[in-house]
Amino acid sequence: MNVANASLHESFKHFPDIGEDNFCSFLGAPIIYRKEILGVLVVQQRVARQFDEGEESFLVTLAAQLAMVLAHARAQGLWPDKQGQSLQLKGAPASPGIAIARVWCDNSQPKLEDVAPSSCLNIASERDRLEAAIEKASAEFRQLRKRFDSDLQQDTLAIFELFSHLLHDPLLRKELDAKVDSRSTAEWAVRDTVETFARQFARMEDDYLKERASDIRELGQRLIYFLDEKHYDQLDLNEPVILAAREINAAMLASIPRDKLAGIVAQEGAVNSHAAILARALGIPSVMGVEFRPNMVMGQQAVLDAYSGQLLIKPNAHVVAEYEELQREEDTLTSQVEKTLAGKTRTSDGTAIEVHLNAGLSADSSIAINDGVDGVGLYRTEVPFLLQRSFPSEDEQTHHYRSILETYQGKPVVMRTLDIGGDKPLPYLAIEEDNPFLGWRGIRFTLDHPEIFLIQIRAMLRASVGLDNLDILLPMISGIGELREARALIDRAFDEVSELVEGQGKTLKRPRIGIMVEVPSIVYQLDRVKPLADFLSVGTNDLTQYLLAVDRNNARVADVYDSFHPAVLSALQTVQQMASRQGMPVCVCGELAGDPMGSVVLTGLGYRALSMNTRSVARIKFILRHLSLEDVNAVVSDIMQCDSPGDIRALLVSFFNRHTLSGFVRAGARTG
Ligand code: PEP
Ligand code: MG
Repeated sequence: MNVANASLHESFKHFPDIGEDNFCSFLGAPIIYRKEILGVLVVQQRVARQFDEGEESFLVTLAAQLAMVLAHARAQGLWPDKQGQSLQLKGAPASPGIAIARVWCDNSQPKLEDVAPSSCLNIASERDRLEAAIEKASAEFRQLRKRFDSDLQQDTLAIFELFSHLLHDPLLRKELDAKVDSRSTAEWAVRDTVETFARQFARMEDDYLKERASDIRELGQRLIYFLDEKHYDQLDLNEPVILAAREINAAMLASIPRDKLAGIVAQEGAVNSHAAILARALGIPSVMGVEFRPNMVMGQQAVLDAYSGQLLIKPNAHVVAEYEELQREEDTLTSQVEKTLAGKTRTSDGTAIEVHLNAGLSADSSIAINDGVDGVGLYRTEVPFLLQRSFPSEDEQTHHYRSILETYQGKPVVMRTLDIGGDKPLPYLAIEEDNPFLGWRGIRFTLDHPEIFLIQIRAMLRASVGLDNLDILLPMISGIGELREARALIDRAFDEVSELVEGQGKTLKRPRIGIMVEVPSIVYQLDRVKPLADFLSVGTNDLTQYLLAVDRNNARVADVYDSFHPAVLSALQTVQQMASRQGMPVCVCGELAGDPMGSVVLTGLGYRALSMNTRSVARIKFILRHLSLEDVNAVVSDIMQCDSPGDIRALLVSFFNRHTLSGFVRAGARTG
């Protein structure tokens, strides 16, 4: 609002106490954050004049910048009226459920870049601090070595040995001491020294030594962590905790026993980032994209409502009691659906739906048997690559894949070739990209590295000998050329392994080859796929992000990412129709398949095979068995007329309520 004389405006109201009587002109810009008005920024002057355009746009810009700062402060409970009281923080619900526990913040990975140059006054005490930190780090590495030794994780063990070795390297120690002697703080001495060493390693010719640059930096992070005397206590594993961290990754989850992890809260990430998918597979209630300040939540009693995406800090007894009741209802529902886990899945009017398992994201090397499934619809092979310090060998991979194929003997197992990149970068292969999800990912990476691809395919084939239940799935196919190239490499690996196996008097069965339908371009080329592929697997996680142009990992646009968007559903309908026209088997392995409402929509669109995480299997089977195909088709034909995800969800919620399935669609629960 820009007026020369505010008192003459029709909406002017005089408030005598606020001392505005001397002013005439008025320029006001609303402070809006994501459609919500947080306040108004006002400038007034004594002279009666209209503000010019430059002044107007300056104030609007300032208000937009302030909006972000204020929203951030509010999210962290920094409004004056909120201090000391219970606090309600919001994020995107990523894995449904309720957790009631204390919050534990993981601050074990401080960034070296955050350490600024600084000097100290007392050299002797600074040396003592450095010495103490080195001692604590050494003790930690000794402990971890012991722990991983018994777990037979030889690679992890080797890292800690390397760390201990580096920590006692005389050259490194001399350098650190010299920096402190010249009045650097211990922190700055660590950063400066570590970065100098890391740079030297990075310049080396030898690939192995080059990679040690990142080990040195990691070691530096541990020292900085131990230098922070006020850092929080180590995780108290006597009671389950709600883990709060900037970003969650598979290794972090692997390091905390499942029964001690009540819930997860992350500042970064969104509904379908891989950390969220993993949390869902593990059945841990999780909320992503929550802005919190570690010191305000650390150690506090909290309720995590991962249906609506809320973290309630210091809730009152009444609220806690409500949530305890909800938890009991959840437990009853879980035991009810698990009673009918076994057996095939048919709708109440007899249509068979195959239910397969998504596996592989967890760090467990052995995959738990799930008797209720018709096979493994998606085995993600990235984790063994992510948890190691270098590419796993052909033998290591063969051993790993064989244990999975054996677990599901007699049932098909779809193994997907390496899909790193995006939010799954390899620690030993730095790829710097502005848009990693649009970059060197999945099949694009492996076709550029045929040696890595061939080793993986050979390992899969060798693992399948005598079990004959392997199918191979190719991720991120965006055109026929990629498929043709991948097939040629698979044929070559097949010939090589066949020869090897025949020499041992055995035969190798040719696996079926499938492609992921997750890059929109391939939807328009499905009629050209048939001679080259045997089946399709629809990845709704990526299909949604690429169709809607929204990063599946970005908390800021989490509300735009929605697999129930009419455009996504329409693409899913097209894929199903094209597959059925060509007689191509098609399965959906994205998270939508394991979502209660998603499973209904997909069944109504004609899909007869769904693949999901182990937690969803019993629930989805229960839901589909309780519904008739006729009712499902009717509601899906109605939702295909809707033009917003909100309307679609509303129709589905009332459909679930009508069929007494309301416990499966609690408000806010979103996985698609
Ligand atoms: C998908 O994109 O839907 C999918 C199943 O693969 P990922 O989540 O591993 O990218
Ligand atoms: Mg994908």
